[in-house]
Amino acid sequence: MRNRRAALAAIASAASLALTLTACGQNSEGGSEEDKGGSDGATVGIAMPTKSSERWITDGANVEKELKGKGFKTKLVFGEDDPDQQVSQIENMITQGVNALIVAAIDNKSLGNVLQQAKDADIPVISYDRLILGTENVDYYASFDNEKVGELQGGYIAEKLGLKDGSEKGPFNIELFAGSNDDNNTRYFFNGAMKVLKPYMDKGQLVVRSKQTALNQVTTLRWDGGTAQKRMDDLLTSSYRSAKVDAVLSPYDGISIGILSALKSDGYGSGSKAMPVVTGQDAEIASVKSIKAGQQTQTVFKDLRELAKVAATMVDAVLNDKKPEVNDTKSYDNGAKVVPAYLLQPVSVDKSNYEKVLVGGGYYTEGQLN
Ligand code: BGC
Repeated sequence: MRNRRAALAAIASAASLALTLTACGQNSEGGSEEDKGGSDGATVGIAMPTKSSERWITDGANVEKELKGKGFKTKLVFGEDDPDQQVSQIENMITQGVNALIVAAIDNKSLGNVLQQAKDADIPVISYDRLILGTENVDYYASFDNEKVGELQGGYIAEKLGLKDGSEKGPFNIELFAGSNDDNNTRYFFNGAMKVLKPYMDKGQLVVRSKQTALNQVTTLRWDGGTAQKRMDDLLTSSYRSAKVDAVLSPYDGISIGILSALKSDGYGSGSKAMPVVTGQDAEIASVKSIKAGQQTQTVFKDLRELAKVAATMVDAVLNDKKPEVNDTKSYDNGAKVVPAYLLQPVSVDKSNYEKVLVGGGYYTEGQLN
C-alpha cells in the first residue's frame, strides 16, 4: 500500500504483534487491519458538504457501499455547509490515520492548508463532484460534464419556448439563477446555459427584465432554496408587475423549489398565469414529484451510483499504486494544476422521460415518486 502512515503502522503493529505472540504464545487470528495489504483494512475518509440536500446523503451512502464492496473501511462526515467545520472534519480524519480522502468541498478555496496536511501524511485526495481549487494536493477529480449540465438546462428552455431551429419567436421574459459562488461547478453550469441562451438574448428573443445577467448578480450562496425564493419574490415585485415571466434558469432542484414557491405566491400556476419553464438539477424526489404535478418543468439527472463507483475505483487504484482511468486531462485546471478527471454524462429529465430514465433505470421506484 502506498500510504506511508499505513506502512509505518503496519510495521509497528507487526512488531508489537510479534512481541505479544512471543510473550503470550497466542495465535495471530484476526491480525491487525494493516497487515493484510491491498485494500483490506485501509480506511477511506469521505467528507460530504451537507445533509440538507438529498443528493449528498445519497452520495455518502453510495460511496460507502462501493468502498466497502472493495474491502475498505470508511469514515463518512457531513459538513453542514460550513467550510470551517469541513476543514476540521478533514483534519480529524487525517489525525485518525485514514489512508485516502474523498472530498466534496463546501468552499472550494478553503482546503489548501488541510490538504497540505494530507499530503504531508501521504494521503491521496480525490476531489468529488466539485473541484478543489488552488492546491496541487488533489490527485484526481470524479465528476460529471458540468458544462453539459448547463447546456441541457439552457437548451431545454430554448426548446420549450420554441426558439430552436432558427425560429423568430419571442420576445420571452427569462430570469437567471446560479449556484453558490464558492462552488467551482457554479460557473460551469452557468456558462454552459449561457452558451445556449445568450445568442437569443442578443437577438432580443429572450429578455431579462431585471437586467441581472452577470454571474455575480445571480449566484445563490450555499445553493439555498430560501435565498432563491427571496430573490424571486424581489424580481417579481421589481420587474414583473406588468409583465409575465416565461422561463427561469435554475441550476439545482432545491433552488427550483424556492423559485416555484415565490411564483405560486404571485399567482402563477393558476388561472391565466401559466407556470414558467423552470429547470433544475439532481432529480431529487421532491422535484420529480413537482415535475409529475406539472410545476417544475425539467431537472438534470446525474447518476450518483456511477459517480460513487468512479470515486471508489480511483481510490482503489491509487492505494494500490495503479493509475486510475481518466477521460479528461484538459478541462479542470484548479489554478495549481490540471487535475486529471473522469467525467460522467448528465441526462435531461422532464415529464416525458422521467419514468424511463429514473424508474426504468432502477434509480427510484414508482412508489417513491407518488
Ligand atoms: C453539484 C450539484 C448540486 C449542487 C448543490 C453542485 O456542486 O454538482 O449536483 O445540485 O452542488 O448541492
